[in-house]
Order: sequence, then structure tokens, then C-alpha cells
Amino acid sequence: EATVHRIASGQVILDLATAVKELLENALDAGATNVEIKLKECGSELIEVADNGCGISNENYQALTLKHHTSKLTSLADLQDLSSFGFRGEALSSLCAVAEVVVSTRTEDSATGTRISYDKNGNIQSTSPIARAKGTTVAVKQLFKPLPVRFKELRRHLKREFAKLLTILQAYAIVTTGVRIICTNQVGTGPRTRMLSTQGLTNMRDNIVTVFGSRTAEALVALDGTSAEGLSMHGYVSKASTSFGRQAGERQYFFLNGRPIDMPKFSKALVETYRMYTSCGNATNIRPAAFIDIRLPKDRYDINVTPDKRKALLHQEQSLLEAFQKALMRVWEPARV
Ligand code: ADP
Ligand code: MG
Repeated sequence: EATVHRIASGQVILDLATAVKELLENALDAGATNVEIKLKECGSELIEVADNGCGISNENYQALTLKHHTSKLTSLADLQDLSSFGFRGEALSSLCAVAEVVVSTRTEDSATGTRISYDKNGNIQSTSPIARAKGTTVAVKQLFKPLPVRFKELRRHLKREFAKLLTILQAYAIVTTGVRIICTNQVGTGPRTRMLSTQGLTNMRDNIVTVFGSRTAEALVALDGTSAEGLSMHGYVSKASTSFGRQAGERQYFFLNGRPIDMPKFSKALVETYRMYTSCGNATNIRPAAFIDIRLPKDRYDINVTPDKRKALLHQEQSLLEAFQKALMRVWEPARV
């Protein structure tokens, strides 16, 4: 049973990036306005995510690391109008199975904080009082230690895995408004390096400036659209006239009602439309930048299709794609004449 759980846990916590993503989502779900992600050795030795959110009350200390425990859903019907990132109650239980997990937390009305360490089955190993402000800190040590192959793989490909992690953090930093997110990394006994930081600004464009700089932001044009299909979108794409280096063009971020998500078909449509309608037409290495939040009624899609919640099943995907292409054409077409 323990082995089965460990294997299944490896499917929820696919990689370093998913581990950090899940912890960040929990901090955001807790209503934090400040989230600090501290990494050691790019996260392979230590991931620590500290928030100033609501904290965890002591009757939940044990439950939160149990399989399928979530405080975010009380009935299956809630899945339909879910506004939190989490809903499966699998992340913390899975992290316990693949790493050493220590939580420290304090709610508004508790006199002190508590530090709780968990064993690999998610059972409480020990608790002790600590001094801390309201909020929660989750520390994950030595990710994948119980899975030797994955443990070695992460360390062998650390640079690539770290890049993936930063890309995912950037996506959350772009779409999250009103929350300061800081990520630092320490290698060896060296100084802490700031990898990413946002200032808790209130709109996507300001976040793009903070994360990628004003030059990137200046090369973008607003894309806003609604369609009869109940789709609306808001965001930014490359200006038609701008010629991009490969790097800038790799910045394609799609969100579904504010949730970062992989949308390969939308990404493909974006690139194809760009080539048709812009002066950069025939250069095959041109990939337009895009930061697009697609807003859809919640009964029009399902994100509960993969354990990492990075994929969505869209009802009537084809008509949504067409609406997306039309919005792109409205932005890019005038540049051609
Ligand atoms: P889910 O997010 O799907 O509910 P998780 O395994 O990620 O499942 O978390 C389990 C539960 O632990 C959450 O439902 C929440 O009640 C609690 N929790 C986890 N992280 C935090 C946090 N940073 N602040 C407050 N509560 C948290
Ligand atoms: Mg969660």
C-alpha cells in the first residue's frame, strides 16, 4: 500500500516545478498577500514556501496530509463553481510520500505558532510550539529521496528542472494580482539570489513589466475579446510589426479563469495566425509572445483531467479556437495594410 501510494504520489508531484507550484497554490488559496519561496540548491535540497495567509487550525494538523483531504470542497457539486487552485487534497499527502515535510503555522486566534513534522505516510511525527506571525510555512526537504531514480534524475538535470520551475512561477506571478511573490535561491554557502519578485500590483501588464521588464511590455499589444460562445479573453500578444528573438517568443502564457494552464492548441493557433497576418510572415523561428487569460463559464471546461491540473478539457474547443483566432486577427490585421 505504501509503495502504491508512493508511485501515485510521483504522478501528482511530477517534478520540482509541480512541487513548488502546489505549495504556491496553497498559499494563494489561503488568502496570502505575501509569499516567499526560499530554495536551496535550486529546490533539490530545500523548498520553503512561507505565506501570511489564514494559517491552519489545530484540528486540521493531521487531516491536511491525508490522502484526499481538502478543506476546499464540501460536495462534488462545489467542483462546478470552484474558485480555489486546489480541490483534490493530494499535494501535501503526496509530498510527504516523496520528501520530508515540515509545516509551521499559526492562525489569527491562536496564541502561538506550531511546528509539525510528518512521516512518509503523512502521519504527525512531532509537534512543538514556535513563535511566528499568522500564516503558514511549508518546508520540503530532499525532494524524491524515497524514489532513487527520480532523485538522481532531478539532480542530474537540475538546471533544466530549475528553468521549468521558474517558468511556472512566472506564470503565477503574471496572473496573480495583489500578492507579493518573492523567490530566492541559495547555492552552497553563497549569497541568496533573487530569482523572481513581484510587487503585489493590480493588473497583468504591470506584472509583466515587473517580471520581464518594460522592453518586453512595450512590444505587446492588448488583446481583448468576447464572443457569442460565452468566451472572453484579456491579455497581451506581440505587436504585429515587432521582430522577436527566439527568447522573447517563448513567453507564451495561457490562463483559464486565472489558472495557469497548458493550451497547446491555442498556442499553435497563435503562432499560425501570427505568421499569416504579420510582416514577420515567413520567418519560421518567430514565435509571438502571449499572455492571455481566457475566461469561460465554469461548466464549459474541466481541469480535473490530469493530476497536476495543467490541462483542461474544453467543451466546444473548435469554436473557442475560432473565436480566439478572430480576436487575434482584429489585433494584427490592421498592421498588414
Ligand atoms: P488542496 O489544496 O487540493 O485542498 P493540499 O494537499 O494542497 O490539497 O492541501 C490540503 C489542505 O491543507 C488544504 O485544503 C488546506 O486546508 C490546508 N493547507 C495547505 N497549505 C496551506 C497553507 N499554506 N495555508 C493554509 N492552509 C493550507
Ligand atoms: Mg493544494
